[in-house]
Amino acid sequence: MRYKEQREQVLETVHLAYQADLIRMSAGNISLRTEDDMVVITPSGIKYRNMTVKDISVVDLEGEPIDGPPPSSETPMHTAIYRHISRAKGICHTHSRYGMIQAHLQEDVPLTNIELMMCGAPIPVAPWAAPGTEKAGEVTVDIFQSRPELHVILLRQHGLVALGGSLAQAYEHAYNAEVGLETHYKVRLVQAPQSFTEAQIQEIKDVYGL
Ligand SMILES: [Zn+2]
Repeated sequence: MRYKEQREQVLETVHLAYQADLIRMSAGNISLRTEDDMVVITPSGIKYRNMTVKDISVVDLEGEPIDGPPPSSETPMHTAIYRHISRAKGICHTHSRYGMIQAHLQEDVPLTNIELMMCGAPIPVAPWAAPGTEKAGEVTVDIFQSRPELHVILLRQHGLVALGGSLAQAYEHAYNAEVGLETHYKVRLVQAPQSFTEAQIQEIKDVYGL
């Protein structure tokens, strides 16, 4: 099987994200970019629960099928990000619950907790683009290009996309984003969340070596 190791890596991340309730049924999608610039990505319409390594697809950077079943319907967003954002080696697009809520609130999420800081907060909400369209790629690429420190974007009325220098990093950002967004949302039910001050941000950066 071609790209067996990378397919196994994608499947392993699917299992992690499924168990963490970041993805469910067949919503959300996960990919990595290989060293020879192929994209190994979850397939279209196969339930995560039953997914095997043979179900993982391989496409080129233009989204042309190379191996495996038809790729995720949201492949154009993944390939656009890989074509234009060289630091992206892995992508997790989730329909995680608090990511979706915040994407519906349509306001950028400020830097109010450490998990959001790890994601490069403030976390912006991208302009509306229907899932699976080229436009979904364009709007996310525009933001990632203008914010080189940013790892996570909320997709308006849709979900969340996280990138990383590896698939493991992308997953970590997607996971941290969900914890940070849930915390931000729930604090807001009680009182206005406090954004970190510049001095606090520097203190945290010093501690974590950021
Ligand atoms: Zn989606």
